[in-house]
Amino acid sequence: MNTQRNNANHKQEEKELQRDRIIDKEAQRVNLVKSGNRFIIAFMTALSNDQKLSSEEKNNYMQRLLHAIFFLGYINDPSVSPMEFIPSLNNLQELIKTKFPEPCEKYKTHLPRQTPYSILLEYIGRGMFNNNNELMEQLVAFNKSLWQLGDENGETLVANDFAFAAAVIAHSKYDDAKTSIVTYGASMSCKGKDLRKLMIAISTLHVWHKAISYAVCCGNKQVKIKFRDHFYCNAYNFSTKEYAYIPVSPCSLCYCMYENVTFHPEFNSNKYASWAYGNCGETESFSKLLLLLESSRNDPLFTVIDNKGVQLNGTEIENRFNKEYKRSMTDYVNNILKQRNFTFDPKAWQLFSPV
Ligand SMILES: [Zn+2]
Repeated sequence: MNTQRNNANHKQEEKELQRDRIIDKEAQRVNLVKSGNRFIIAFMTALSNDQKLSSEEKNNYMQRLLHAIFFLGYINDPSVSPMEFIPSLNNLQELIKTKFPEPCEKYKTHLPRQTPYSILLEYIGRGMFNNNNELMEQLVAFNKSLWQLGDENGETLVANDFAFAAAVIAHSKYDDAKTSIVTYGASMSCKGKDLRKLMIAISTLHVWHKAISYAVCCGNKQVKIKFRDHFYCNAYNFSTKEYAYIPVSPCSLCYCMYENVTFHPEFNSNKYASWAYGNCGETESFSKLLLLLESSRNDPLFTVIDNKGVQLNGTEIENRFNKEYKRSMTDYVNNILKQRNFTFDPKAWQLFSPV
């Protein structure tokens, strides 16, 4: 009798859990639609108010942003179609379809290179080489406009629910008195563990500098990038309570992976990292920095050291990455995309670049 009752209770609990999961998914989908909708409107407004950028550049940013949001919507479970992100007011949907046909088509065949917030950061950070305060002020103003912007029904969005927010912005610099190069990076700004891991996998295969990709893939195997002197990194965490970027020390993963960097604030060993390797803003900013340095100088300003203390040069890093991780990372991307009905051929990668 008791067993029967227990079974019935168990089934009832299972049903309730399932119902909660469906409600959670639906609530997450609603947030995603609202977040994309606001991001697109706020970004369009910022671009149209920009007096300095050429119309080609504006077009390029807008296409990349639309594509990244449409892609993340499409592979979300449950899926969101592109036009759900566009308000039906003022013929905006028709305008987007006519003016930006590429992202409206390629969101289900081509992959984005960056998350939406990383595209925003690239846009706001261009030309702002040493003025972190101004950058942070502009980002805060943009963030506020996202959360205060009501949808068609006038509903605003709580900052924590915003699906594309990057928690951390990192600012990396190489400065040896002769050369000074600055880059910015955002932490992986898409909600959902699978999506963040997917963007990390795509980045390791096709976006990041191979030294960064290899160190990220090695994870806790204690492979590190040892920089030469003059590398600096400042990071800022967005506080949704204070509506401000607060300086933040590197996590233990970044601190171990990136050696001989002057971090500000300094490393604080009490900080526990519960996220995946590659998730942090430091990774994107260091990758951009290494790619820029590589294109402007012949001598590499870093070396990768494996867990046996062996120093690897550029070709060795590339070979090791291809041998040890290319396949597993590609399989990961393939599996996730297959589940989401995305047309993907692992032998012919298609990444979105506006023409
Ligand atoms: Zn980190």
